[in-house]
Amino acid sequence: MDGASKIRTSCCIAGGGPAGMMLGFLLARAGVEVVVLEKHADFLRDFRGDTVHPSTLEVMHELGLLEEFLKLPHQEVRQLGGQIGEDFLQLADFSHLPTKCKFIALVPQWDFLDFLADHARQYPTFKLIMQAEVVDVITEGGRVTGIEARAPDENLEVRADLTIGADGRGSIVRDKSGLETQKFGAPMDVLWFRLSRKDSDGEQTLGRIVDGKMMVMLNRGDYWQCGYLIRKDEFENIKARGLEQFRNDVVSVAPFVADRTNELANWDPIKLLTVRIDRLMKWYRPGLLCIGDAAHAMSPIGGVGINLAIQDAVAAANILAERLLRNTVSLADLERVQLRRDFPTRMTQSLQIILQNNVIHRVLGNPDFRLPSVMKLFNRWPFLRRTPARIVGIGFRAEHVRTSSADHADSGD
Ligand SMILES: Cc1cc2nc3c(=O)[nH]c(=O)nc-3n(C[C@H](O)[C@H](O)[C@H](O)COP(=O)(O)OP(=O)(O)OC[C@H]3O[C@@H](n4cnc5c(N)ncnc54)[C@H](O)[C@@H]3O)c2cc1C
Repeated sequence: MDGASKIRTSCCIAGGGPAGMMLGFLLARAGVEVVVLEKHADFLRDFRGDTVHPSTLEVMHELGLLEEFLKLPHQEVRQLGGQIGEDFLQLADFSHLPTKCKFIALVPQWDFLDFLADHARQYPTFKLIMQAEVVDVITEGGRVTGIEARAPDENLEVRADLTIGADGRGSIVRDKSGLETQKFGAPMDVLWFRLSRKDSDGEQTLGRIVDGKMMVMLNRGDYWQCGYLIRKDEFENIKARGLEQFRNDVVSVAPFVADRTNELANWDPIKLLTVRIDRLMKWYRPGLLCIGDAAHAMSPIGGVGINLAIQDAVAAANILAERLLRNTVSLADLERVQLRRDFPTRMTQSLQIILQNNVIHRVLGNPDFRLPSVMKLFNRWPFLRRTPARIVGIGFRAEHVRTSSADHADSGD
């Protein structure tokens, strides 16, 4: 880029979402020079999932930040259940997990990211540049050597020993670097919106399946965060049928909100999440590694996207921090990150695909859907709820913080 401001660093991270901020924090904490580029001016954006799972809370605990983190306003989900027609099913119970926190904390993603950014800024080797939109990767002799970005008043050219693509499922880094993506279909999209909550509604975070319709309701204290599932690409048809019809559909799934669906005064507060499942065949090439949604977009089933992104960041920091300090990151090191995280990603996506195709696809538009009777055993035998709790709460390969802390922040220098 002609006339661009030039920055030189060890590690340049594109994207300040959960993956990028956690990796930036962990690397800076270990003493690595790191620059994070985030295209937005702040972290306050549309709802993007609030589910901080026990695996992520365990990471916060290992970092010594858990107590402070839990001072942020949050709700704690200890069980997950589902209302399926007339039947109520308890599906997951987190109380037996071998983790410090035996619950999912519902924390707005912007609070979580602000929290990480505030802590990362305590390290002198951390730099976060907001309103810097990555537009290209710089490649020299087949190796990625940095990225180009646009900021409001200038262009930036960041040269780095290692570039990380953590810019989410629409990753420009992965597109520009020619990494190949494997795509898996999804039969549904999700409409996200809020409805106010009354104490008389009950507390439980739960899924509801009624009359061929399906909705998830997360208890966020004074409101419900609702995710209404629709068939893929149906949103325009739903809009064409009108808002009143949509409100009626919502009431038919959750009758107790009938007195407040007028809060949906127009379509603006109803946000479409186009569900996508994909993953990179190879997460890396010389000088570059992708993590989080940039490496694997997840279905919202289980609310695991944030947590997998965090786990990727922890694994990447564990494997790469020392090598970045010595500037000896090799292609084999990048491959090790993928090998470490590929298995949990594949397993989680496979389960999501099985659930999408065998439950969600069958439910949507099919009022005759009935709960298979074998599922009722979950109500009778509570121990059955431990496995779903473990898969959702911890996942398939828990990562633990192995990086050390550079002296600065601990000693209060
Ligand atoms: C509506 C919705 C609801 C969701 N619900 C849940 C849920 O309940 N639970 C859950 O776990 N997950 C949920 N997810 C998924 C979850 O948000 C992601 O899986 C998770 O945030 C992935 O983290 P990430 O850091 O990899 O990517 P992202 O969170 O997407 O972060 C990428 C970051 O990069 C920035 N960026 C993008 N392009 C550029 C660029 N060119 N230059 C600079 N910066 C850039 C973006 O602004 C963003 O800050 C939801 C997603 C959506 C959209």
